Amino acid sequence: MLQVAVVGSGPSGVYAAQSLVQQDRVPDVRVDVLDRLPCPYGLVRYGVAPDHEKIKSLQNNLRAVLEHERVRFLGSVEIGPGTLLPDRLLDLYHAVVYCVGAATDRRLGVPGEDLPGSYSATEFVSWYSAHPDALTDGYAQDGFVRDVESAVVIGVGNVAVDVARMLVRGAAELLPTDMPDAALGVLAGSGVREVSMVGRRGPSQARFTTKELRELGALPDTDVVVDPAELALDPAYIDPSGLPAASRRNVEVLRGWAERPAQGLARRLRLRFFLRPVSLTAGAAGRVALTRFERTLPDGRGGVTGSGQYEDIPAELVLRSVGYRGVPLEGLPFDAERGTVPHAAGRVLRNGVPSPGEYVAGWIKRGPTGVIGTNRPCSKETVQSLLDDASALERRPLQEDPLTALRAAGLRPVEWPGWLAIESAEAELGRSLGRGVVKIPDWAGLRAAAERVRDQEMRG
Ligand code: NAP
Repeated sequence: MLQVAVVGSGPSGVYAAQSLVQQDRVPDVRVDVLDRLPCPYGLVRYGVAPDHEKIKSLQNNLRAVLEHERVRFLGSVEIGPGTLLPDRLLDLYHAVVYCVGAATDRRLGVPGEDLPGSYSATEFVSWYSAHPDALTDGYAQDGFVRDVESAVVIGVGNVAVDVARMLVRGAAELLPTDMPDAALGVLAGSGVREVSMVGRRGPSQARFTTKELRELGALPDTDVVVDPAELALDPAYIDPSGLPAASRRNVEVLRGWAERPAQGLARRLRLRFFLRPVSLTAGAAGRVALTRFERTLPDGRGGVTGSGQYEDIPAELVLRSVGYRGVPLEGLPFDAERGTVPHAAGRVLRNGVPSPGEYVAGWIKRGPTGVIGTNRPCSKETVQSLLDDASALERRPLQEDPLTALRAAGLRPVEWPGWLAIESAEAELGRSLGRGVVKIPDWAGLRAAAERVRDQEMRG
């Protein structure tokens, strides 16, 4: 029997587990999928926007893997200082696949970035997605949009599109989501009327995907506004024939909006380009009031140069959506420049040499790019490497039962029935509020829901 731990139960972790149990090269592979949260699914649960029901339904596919007879979900297991470090984990398993994602966000590196009212998009996403850290970290206390009329979103990737869309969604569209009740109350009562989403390069270089972009044009009560003259600063906007298909489609959608007159709807979403953030300044109350941008111009090589001309966009809320970044895990090597773990086809490299039994997949392997499906081939490649190494790995006898050892390390793993109890509690919470499923937003609530199973087991 080959015992494998997968650290992280987001898409890359679950796809790794799936590849490990759905193959016939190595018989009887057992997989423990560990997660620091008591809930599985990573960014599918805590990153995919609540109004993206269809993408969220991917959870059903991931669930089938975690319910496989040779896969065991163990939530509330944090690998790190104070609990278990990678070397200890390798005592318990023949192999460990780290699928820990990219847990923080890139910094802008401009003055005023940390002013009140300026948040990373991740903080906003975590809050409306009910990530329990959002409440403990405290940044959600002021409700993001309270007393806000104008917002600036910096960046033009899919996360920027998500947060811009959530800022202009009305109460009727938010109500059917599983958003926590407090966030729903705040967003439903929001007075945000104007959102500017700002890219530092041109429309042909934007990172959003066309499906996500197009959705903005269909939002109720919201005009999408683009300036044809600003779009035309991009030579590829004028002649998109040389662009890759995805960028060309984006440009065509933007062109459609440029040609469509604004309809004077209640909210406006402006898509701006060729503006790079320079500084954020506070108003009288100490909260961010203005974001200064420098007009940029294409340099002909895909980049931009500064023009020395500046534009100030007034807004009381700034969401910095400039990408995620991996964080080092103590005991694992880390490439600080790329924010990833060095690897060769998924094998962790220590001083340039593959470290037996240690693997990576997902964003910590390749950086924070691609859509959920990108993780499938990425995890598969890693698992191929692991299976190639399996006969050597399997020779090492394991001394302890992993679950006993995790408990001895002071951890209280939440097993699958505990997660199912959280799911039931969320359904019950929704019923009590006259809504569908509503997520539990705090650690205590999640723990209490999971503990119900333990209590029942002890009584039974
Ligand atoms: P992203 O796609 O990497 O986009 C980051 C954006 O920030 C880019 O527009 C980038 O511009 C800009 N940026 C970076 N540094 C900047 C700076 N210093 N100043 C101004 N702008 C800066 O990242 P993301 O939006 O966080 O998305 C991460 C991944 O998740 C992506 O692969 C995305 O497709 C995926 N995702 C998918 C969905 C979906 O499928 N619905 C939803 C959410 C996320 P440059 O291009 O100029 O660097």
